[in-house]
Amino acid sequence: EQIKKIVENAKSSGRKKLLEHESLAVLEAYNIPVAPYFFAKDENEAQRNIDKIGFPVVVKIVSPDIVHKSDVGGVIVNVNSKDELVNAIKSIRANVQKNAPSAEVTGFLVQKMMPKGGLEVIVGGIRDPVFDATVMFGLGGIFVEVLKDVSFRIAPITKEEALEMINEIKARKILEGYRGEAPRDKEAIADIIVKVSKLLYENQELKEMDVNPVIVYEKGAYAVDARFIL
Ligand code: ADP
Ligand code: MG
Repeated sequence: EQIKKIVENAKSSGRKKLLEHESLAVLEAYNIPVAPYFFAKDENEAQRNIDKIGFPVVVKIVSPDIVHKSDVGGVIVNVNSKDELVNAIKSIRANVQKNAPSAEVTGFLVQKMMPKGGLEVIVGGIRDPVFDATVMFGLGGIFVEVLKDVSFRIAPITKEEALEMINEIKARKILEGYRGEAPRDKEAIADIIVKVSKLLYENQELKEMDVNPVIVYEKGAYAVDARFIL
């Protein structure tokens, strides 16, 4: 119901991509754990609402024309006070003006900064011409982009299948803790993959998506960034 509203609203504004806060709301509609956030159109609105989540926060550009926010200086982490919040928004505006001058600025996502020590993983989904909804899992950074160390399944999947996907990647050991690193919460990741598979399976109008990254701890995993293509 809520997803339909978000999709209709995007379509009627002529958008083929959901905005950051819309994408996170879609994940929340399927009970996927998301780092607390709010949308603000400017620095005043951001300051007025900051008590909803508290510091430290990450500030991100929200624009229908920008896909890779950090590439244009659109993400500032470790923002610790109202002054820093205002400065972060001003800096992002300036960065975007310089690096993507034609991009429309809808506003800013203010999001709780997740604690250090998390491991970044990616959960994605595409529609295959033959199998329709499929889900993908891999570790963040070079593991997916350079090494293509990923696993796939046809949606919808069970928790057992999601755990298989996690155990199939070559970099599995990184999740299990090496050189004194803590093992990561595979159950929490599997839970997210299952929910993503259900989400794609049940919402035909969502053509392609990724959650990049999901930040994974010894206990718990949280989505901080999501992208949906209609
Ligand atoms: P984009 O992928 O569009 O550049 P992201 O929202 O993924 O933007 O942010 C870029 C990076 O910043 C993430 O990969 C992650 O390392 C870090 N980051 C983003 N949000 C958070 C957060 N809430 N807590 C901690 N780190 C974050
Ligand atoms: Mg990202």
